[in-house]
Amino acid sequence: MIVVASQQWAENQLRNGALSCPSCAGVLRPYGHARLRTVRGLGIATLTARPRRARCTDCRATQVLLPATMTCRRADSTEVIGHALAAKAAGAGFRTIASALGRPASTVRAWLRRATPRHAAWLYEQALHHCLQVDVELLVRSAPQPTLLGRALNLLAGAALRHRERFAHSHQADEPAEPRRHPQRRLHLQNQ
Ligand SMILES: [Zn+2]
Repeated sequence: MIVVASQQWAENQLRNGALSCPSCAGVLRPYGHARLRTVRGLGIATLTARPRRARCTDCRATQVLLPATMTCRRADSTEVIGHALAAKAAGAGFRTIASALGRPASTVRAWLRRATPRHAAWLYEQALHHCLQVDVELLVRSAPQPTLLGRALNLLAGAALRHRERFAHSHQADEPAEPRRHPQRRLHLQNQ
């Protein structure tokens, strides 16, 4: 499985032969679709998508290109879990977070328990990866955070914001957009 910024991005990258195989030096090509997945979003919103499947032209290994908005084996979207982790990093308890998100307290407590230092390190790696793909400048300009989890969430929020800026109005674009740099937007990030 490969986590991708968005399905549209993955589709463009696949068509351009721009995705490389994680296990060899080959190139990934479109190879059908994976099963339909549905995750709950914030409130009653749900996200449904049939992720793209790709196959390496060299080693023939197949990969599911899962959008970053959906995480593996979770009934809730990355966005909701991200909100819970951000609230925890800000000092809120699981009951408060659960009622704010409209989720059972036991579910939220389970997410928070999984947010171990090892998980924070993993999340930070994911954040670095997303920032490198969306806008390297996020790494230079991110506001200082006291914890690794805080740094990871801040970078992910920045990457999500940039991603929305770049892809919101470019459904028809065949080429990846150049990273945009708006000096005034940095203030927005630093306030988070
Ligand atoms: Zn390969």
